[in-house]
Amino acid sequence: MPLPYLTWMPASYNNNLAFAGARHAWNALLNLWERRQNRAVLRSRPLVIQVEVTKRCNIHCFMCLREDIPKEDMLPEVLAEVLPLSKHTREMQLYGYGEPLIAKPFYALLGRLECANIRFTTNGVALKPGVLHRLLTEARRPVSHISFSIDAATASTYEEIRQGSDFGRVLNNLAYVDEYRRMHGLRFPMTEIAFVAMKRNIRELKDVVRLASRSGVSSVHVAHVVVWDERNREESLLYHPEETQRCFAEAEEAASALNVRLDLPARISLNGKGEPPDPTRGAPKCYMPWRHPVIKFNGDVQPCCAAPDDVMGNVLEDTFEAIWNGSRFGRFRMRVNSTRPPEVCKSCDIRFRDSPSGDRIEEVYIRPPPANR
Ligand code: SF4
Repeated sequence: MPLPYLTWMPASYNNNLAFAGARHAWNALLNLWERRQNRAVLRSRPLVIQVEVTKRCNIHCFMCLREDIPKEDMLPEVLAEVLPLSKHTREMQLYGYGEPLIAKPFYALLGRLECANIRFTTNGVALKPGVLHRLLTEARRPVSHISFSIDAATASTYEEIRQGSDFGRVLNNLAYVDEYRRMHGLRFPMTEIAFVAMKRNIRELKDVVRLASRSGVSSVHVAHVVVWDERNREESLLYHPEETQRCFAEAEEAASALNVRLDLPARISLNGKGEPPDPTRGAPKCYMPWRHPVIKFNGDVQPCCAAPDDVMGNVLEDTFEAIWNGSRFGRFRMRVNSTRPPEVCKSCDIRFRDSPSGDRIEEVYIRPPPANR
């Protein structure tokens, strides 16, 4: 069945504010004002909540930490706590360490959330045509964006990275989203390719941009791999600045010719080649703890997706509102942009994505795994 509520958006639309009603717009303004004031306690609510619907996955990526993490779905009691939060939240992002499409809580939330729009990231294996149709027709609110994790343009490189996946099947599933949109006259969901950049795939980035263009994908988002295992150290582009520079330039050229939005991280380098980090710039400000908390499968609340060891509370023990404005969260907010930030913020790949800090750059991309995964 067509989804008429998705058809009225202008073609130029590329952000989620178009879905927001007056309540969300007011909350966004209040939130902006409160974070500019550096408030510890907030009247506003999060703009976005990321919800980890499962820890399970259907493939095994060689750079992932999956071996040591519990293979569980979101607890039903946690799901019940998440639902009412969606009334005030503009966007709910349904993903975490696991693959959302294989988890029942994903579908349970999809049919009941009241946020302005929904977004998720998937490895794409399970997003077959029937599943896409089901989730778009069952979703109570618009699914605005689907991000596919695709880190290569050839089956051999892709399947070496995402072990157990099937490149051909994932590309078919990706292309079907575009076909579905055209069949039903829809502009949404928009698709994105999320590319984890490393030594073994960086030469394929320009071809991934071409693949995106062929598949009706609107943007390619690139992030540097974070190496958790010493054995993979050489995969970090820290040690390959010239090759990175060349491949990024080729990808930029392809993106500009094909009109694909390409979101590249900073060129990172240990030896000053490429685009060296500028130590005089200091750490960029981070506002994630004001805007974008995470609720884990077990109810733990994190201030952002990059701080798994900094648990602010648990929704099974306290209300979300009490956690959001509790002393732990307040202290975290007060420290994040101070001269004494929490340890995790000193080597955060999200914070330093566009502006890596000179003296700690190696700690940002090569580090021990978090304890609480
Ligand atoms: S700097 Fe990184 S770890 Fe710290 S709050 Fe921001 S996103 Fe989270």
